Amino acid sequence: MATSPVMVEVDLWGSGRLAGHLRVPQSRDDSGWGTIQVPIVVIANGTGPTVLLTAGNHGDEYEGQVALLDLARTLPAEEVQGRVILLPAMHYPACAAGKRLSPLDGRDFNRCFPGDPFGGFALSLAHFVDSVLLPLCDVQMDLHSGGTGMDIVPSAVGHMLDHPEMQARTLAMADAFGAPVTLLLKEVNAGPTLLAAAENRGVVALSSELGGGGRLNPRALAITKRGVRNVLRHAGVLQGKPEIGEYGHPRRMTVPDLGHYVFAPADGIWEAAHELGAAVQADAPAGLLHRIEDPTAPPIALSYKATGLLWCVRHAGRVKAGDPVAVIARDL
Ligand SMILES: [Zn+2]
Repeated sequence: MATSPVMVEVDLWGSGRLAGHLRVPQSRDDSGWGTIQVPIVVIANGTGPTVLLTAGNHGDEYEGQVALLDLARTLPAEEVQGRVILLPAMHYPACAAGKRLSPLDGRDFNRCFPGDPFGGFALSLAHFVDSVLLPLCDVQMDLHSGGTGMDIVPSAVGHMLDHPEMQARTLAMADAFGAPVTLLLKEVNAGPTLLAAAENRGVVALSSELGGGGRLNPRALAITKRGVRNVLRHAGVLQGKPEIGEYGHPRRMTVPDLGHYVFAPADGIWEAAHELGAAVQADAPAGLLHRIEDPTAPPIALSYKATGLLWCVRHAGRVKAGDPVAVIARDL
């Protein structure tokens, strides 16, 4: 096992349903040997692949957290062939605070990989996930939603990969998850993400976007609960074929480049021209950016730069210069 200061209070090689904590050192003024407890559940039986399912990478994204809590309670160990490792609230301090970023140090946990064993809570935990958990895994899925700021069409998300075989395996797993959309993404600052760390270790890796707006969306939760079981079926950890949702097979789409994003050029209040999921055209109005600083000036009009599905829209009204306010996906 790689050198890590994180203590594992569950037997990663045990069988049955094993619940415990990762204990990550976090010194405080009043507790020099203090630790932060990150919940972990291992459900294992017999021989088979290992699947790592994580949620709460960002604390204000709730569908994955609740779907993994459900799986932790209800997945019968005797139905498992192999091992399922669940981290339902991976970046625990952010989850407990209901925030994207850490209340400890402001870090975005999904920009902390591959981590640093002695770099503080987030880097230390990221290092543990990368160097201890990922090498055990055949398949990894990190569950995200749009968070406080964004609202997103429920999607299983993979990165665009150079390796054709890994790309095909990623797409097949994303289709098996069975969200309305399977999406291949060129992500802003993807390098230090958990998804990229898993890809670097040759693990078939998937992320998701399952709603947003800082709420738990019941429809997106149902998609997520079915989706994580579908991934386990696809990986061969559970018997049976993946279930298809009421909307049919996923629509395969892509956000191929940053030209499919619309960014706010200034601070303001965003008025979107369309609802999430609308079909939109390049050069059509995307919305208006209202500037409270200059009441007599007209709002700044922004246009889409691509034709396709309005896959992601700004949910929070207030935006800062440089924030994306719309992301367009097109069919793959
Ligand atoms: Zn996220």
